[in-house]
Order: sequence, then C-alpha cells, then structure tokens
Amino acid sequence: MQIAIDGPAGAGKSSIAKSLAKELGILYLDTGAMYRAVGYKAMKLGIDTLNEEKVSAMMDDIEIKVIYSETGQHIILDGTDITEHIREPEVSINASNASKHRKVRDKLVAMQQEIAKETDVVAEGRDIGTYVLPEAEYKFYITASAEERAKRRHKELCEKGKNTDIEKLAEEIKARDYQDMNREYAPLKAAEDSVLIDTTNLNFDEVLSLILDTIKDKGKRNESN
Ligand code: C5P
Repeated sequence: MQIAIDGPAGAGKSSIAKSLAKELGILYLDTGAMYRAVGYKAMKLGIDTLNEEKVSAMMDDIEIKVIYSETGQHIILDGTDITEHIREPEVSINASNASKHRKVRDKLVAMQQEIAKETDVVAEGRDIGTYVLPEAEYKFYITASAEERAKRRHKELCEKGKNTDIEKLAEEIKARDYQDMNREYAPLKAAEDSVLIDTTNLNFDEVLSLILDTIKDKGKRNESN
C-alpha cells in the first residue's frame, strides 16, 4: 500500500501522516527530513545552497540514512543522528534552496522509491503523488491558508519554548512555498488524481477521519469492481 501526502509548508501534513501510518500499521516516511539533511550539511560547510554546482559536488560526498526506532524516523547524516537539529527555520529555507537542484532530487527520490518498494508507506512531501510514487493508490493534497499555517507553526514553536514572530514566520512560509511551487524540477503541485483537503477550518481529528474514510471508501469500491 502506498499513500502519498503532499502540500505546502505547515499545513499539518506531518502530524496527519504520522497518525495515519500508526492507525494503518505502516511506515511513515517524512521525505522533507531528507532535504533538510542536505540543507543542514551545506549550512555547516558554509556552502551557498542556491549554488547548484557546489551543492551538486557535495552530493558526491554525503551519506544520508533513514532509520526507524520507537521514537520514530531518524535521519543519520554522515554517521551522526541530526534529527533534533533540522527543524530550525534556517534549515527550512536551505532545504528548499537545495531541493531545486536536480542532483539532490535524483539522489533522494531514488532512496525514497527504494524504501517504498520494500514496505507499505505513508510518504509525505511535495512531489510524492506527482513524481516519487505516481502509482500510489491513495493521494492527498493537504493545504490551509498561509495565515493559518503560520499560526499553527507559531503555536508549535511556542510549545517547544521558542518564541518567534508570527509575521516573520508567515513571510518565511510564503517564500518557501513560492520557491517550492515554482522550481523547474518536480515543483509542488496537487496530483490530478489527488483528494484535496483544505484544513483551514478543520481540526486534526476531522482531517484524519476524512482521510481514513476516503481510504475505506476507495478500498470498498475497488473490491466491488
Ligand atoms: O516538509 P518539510 O517542510 O520538512 O520540507 C523541507 C523542504 O524540503 C521543503 O520546503 C521543500 O523545498 C523540500 N522538499 C521537497 N520535496 C519533498 C519534501 C520536501 O522538495 N518531497
């Protein structure tokens, strides 16, 4: 079983995908974390993530591993677990910059497809339904207004004790979405056969039920055909 979940930053994809995978007893694959590992490494090396040549050269000397433990998905970069360090806003924009480059995408997409070949997954990202798993049985595009997404991100960061300016967060989210939607290679867009869910006025349980019902309905329809 392959379930693809795509959508812009901060739409609540990760928490939904995680719960969905748990509910269905299958693997949750957070592909954004892999792009974050690339952005993180470039930042640490002082490489401008918009510089395609330099980032591409770095991709020849990078080892990214995705492992799973009781605490969920972990990203191992060159032998070190960096999971705790990749959620910072500077990593977000550097991940988005780096994700434009073909060599970065080719390497990470191949890894993602390999994982999904081996096991049932809920894979979450920007190009899962359109590019990574175009044959996925179930595809969802989850979105919400930019203001609502900034509000949610702000709350999430506050809960972690990080005080951030909500206006600045909204700007960052919009800039990243613009870049993700307008890049040349595998831009963020809803797959034609995806179910669009606008979560602006929905709570978490409502979104999860909507997705589970859609999966059950489609499963029943397939059985009766
Ligand atoms: O999902 P997350 O916000 O962690 O992703 C970080 C960045 O990685 C995104 O802004 C996007 O540029 C990139 N990304 C991507 N394709 C994916 C997942 C993430 O280009 N499948």
